[in-house]
Amino acid sequence: MDRDRILLTPGPLTTTLRTKLAMLKDWGSWDADFIAVTAQVRKRLLDIVQGHDTHVVVPLQGSGTFSVEAAVATVVPRDGHVLVPDNGAYCKRAAKLSQMMGRRATVFAVPEERPVSAAEVEAHLAADPSLTHVILIHCETGTGVENPLAEVAAVCERRGVGLIVDAMSSFAALPVDARTTRFDALIAASGKCLEGVPGMGFVFLRKAILDACAGNSQSLAMDLHDQHAYMVKTGQWRFTPPTHVVVALAEAIAQFVEEGGQPARLARYSDNCRELVQGMAELGFRPFLAPEVQAPIIVTFHAPAHAAYDFKRFYDGAKARGFILYPGKLTQIETFRVGCIGAIGRNEMRQAVAAVADTLREMGIPDGTPAS
Ligand SMILES: *Cc1c(COP(=O)(O)O)cnc(C)c1O
Repeated sequence: MDRDRILLTPGPLTTTLRTKLAMLKDWGSWDADFIAVTAQVRKRLLDIVQGHDTHVVVPLQGSGTFSVEAAVATVVPRDGHVLVPDNGAYCKRAAKLSQMMGRRATVFAVPEERPVSAAEVEAHLAADPSLTHVILIHCETGTGVENPLAEVAAVCERRGVGLIVDAMSSFAALPVDARTTRFDALIAASGKCLEGVPGMGFVFLRKAILDACAGNSQSLAMDLHDQHAYMVKTGQWRFTPPTHVVVALAEAIAQFVEEGGQPARLARYSDNCRELVQGMAELGFRPFLAPEVQAPIIVTFHAPAHAAYDFKRFYDGAKARGFILYPGKLTQIETFRVGCIGAIGRNEMRQAVAAVADTLREMGIPDGTPAS
């Protein structure tokens, strides 16, 4: 097969040829040309959240988790206390990294099949005045559920606590407006809905809290306050930047703008999600989430109940037909996930469903009906 496999995963994801071609050139990290690319990327990222008046954006080397860790270490004082509503794997990861950095963390469990509610966040904040910050995962990629960012932000603002948002899998697809939604930090990365390649994250930091962040981080490399100060002074990254990733992101953002920005991206992903869920339903598959809480980012499906089902064989069958699926992340029930994001459209989703149908036939499974 000479076509690249289509990645139906939540990052890395399928990128355009134009984005890939942007990486065929070497750049000097101190050179004015590269400094200009960094500056342009930072400006365009702030454009996406209308954040020029209220926030700065600080890029950081590494995968998305590096930036979540950096944001918590930079924003939460060492004697701070974070509240983490937990409805999935990425919530648990955020709580764990907070604790590993020595921050006190209180986690409260929310069933994985429903969003966190702003009222329960408020009740926890009211019950424990030592809480200083909330960490919210915007789209919990473990299931695909969308958590109510604007409502939780309003509660945090009213209660005078900070808000850190992991918007990794939603940024540039779901709307976020920094003028009306108050957050101290919001984190995303190059290789998700902006459709760049993986290798860097970026954190929007609220200008009003920036000075107070100095000295919070116990890490040299992950200190976003320092990274920002250095970038303002020199235009450069503090340490070796992922140059090819940055230029690919610049090219990916140019295509994002040409497509029509966030509303257009949301429309395409929503269409992908509809096409997928409908096609899979015709094969008997059932999504784990109710449609009204499903973000159009990644869909968790119940595994077929049939005795011949085995994820590894299912995966290999889809792969042989050109599509990369994603394992489930739920501990109690067997599931698999299919991403709706990346440089793909409804044709690829239809072909993916056809590949799944073909794979089922090959495995001798009549349909995708899950256990009841
Ligand atoms: C992808 C993702 C991350 C970052 O994961 P990495 O593997 O470190 O890139 C963090 N949070 C969410 C919600 C994600 O979807």
